[in-house]
Amino acid sequence: MKTVLIIEDEPALLDGLRVNLETEGYQVVGAHTGEKGIDLAMESRPDVIVLDVMLPGIDGFEVCRRLREFGVKAPIIILSARSAELDRVVGLEIGADDYVTKPFSLRELLARIHARLREHDDWYRHAPKDVRLGSVYVDFEKCHASRDGEAVQMTAREFDVLRLLASHRGQAVTRAQIMNCVFGSSDETGSRSVDTHILHVRQKIEDDPANPRYLLTVYGQGYKLLE
Ligand code: CA
Repeated sequence: MKTVLIIEDEPALLDGLRVNLETEGYQVVGAHTGEKGIDLAMESRPDVIVLDVMLPGIDGFEVCRRLREFGVKAPIIILSARSAELDRVVGLEIGADDYVTKPFSLRELLARIHARLREHDDWYRHAPKDVRLGSVYVDFEKCHASRDGEAVQMTAREFDVLRLLASHRGQAVTRAQIMNCVFGSSDETGSRSVDTHILHVRQKIEDDPANPRYLLTVYGQGYKLLE
């Protein structure tokens, strides 16, 4: 299970992020101050860090600088409110990897977190940026799906399942591959969880989910996305 550290002093924002990330299957640790955040980063070895700039005590820039000084290698996504702050982030003087400007949509931040967590995965780097299936269009970069122009709500894991299949379009992908790539090899959700996600994706992309046209079952093997 991947761990996300959030350093943010607004309780509502921290809790909102926590709930959403936990729903997506991530472990979340949260800190309200930079000092506490640095301690947690050393203790919990997060896979990605979300860091607000305006914090009580030392600010996000200083936190970022110290984290790098202490050898923390996890990608850092900065939450920045002002364009003046942004200049320093964009210049990457402080060792951050990405930034999101406040106010931001939760979807946007989740997409960035997700991309940062996946960027070292080989399949993800070679996966298509989007896919069209009849009247359904899926933009994996923005984590946005639509059907006849109407937005379709999909979870980050559902996007990943579909993106994995899209990166092997026309070929069968086994349940084991899906489990490894999307859920992480240490995750024991089992193949039933894969089937459940396939079911949900079908409900969102197929006209008749019981008789799928695009996302097909390959008996004894797994699933494939029709070419
Ligand atoms: Ca703040």
